[in-house]
Amino acid sequence: MVLGEAHSFPVSISAVDVNVIDARLSKYWVYGQNPNEQWSALISFPEWANDPFYYQNLVEGKGSAGHIFRRYEELLQNEHAPPNLEGFANLIKDNWYQCPICEKAWESKGGSEVITCPGCNEKLRRP
Ligand SMILES: [Zn+2]
Repeated sequence: MVLGEAHSFPVSISAVDVNVIDARLSKYWVYGQNPNEQWSALISFPEWANDPFYYQNLVEGKGSAGHIFRRYEELLQNEHAPPNLEGFANLIKDNWYQCPICEKAWESKGGSEVITCPGCNEKLRRP
């Protein structure tokens, strides 16, 4: 499943249509299997992997599926820095960083490789 520009939810595509640039798996993913479909398994975030109705709810905009998906979307997009992201935030002290572009300083906790400056919205590598 990938998130393309044409949909607000992930869709299946062929593996031959994907160019993998980083084969690491997300720390947010777990293994799930639908008890009613023993042949089917899914690696995704827990809310999806453990709920056989999650994807249907996401596509149909039901319940909190969309909110949960957007939360993980941001976490996943920032978890591993893309190879072409060259700019680094400046580490001031502990969890405090400074933007090299607008000089805004902010606190950022967590282990994501990418952090976003709250002043100019620039995505930067966590040093
Ligand atoms: Zn900035």
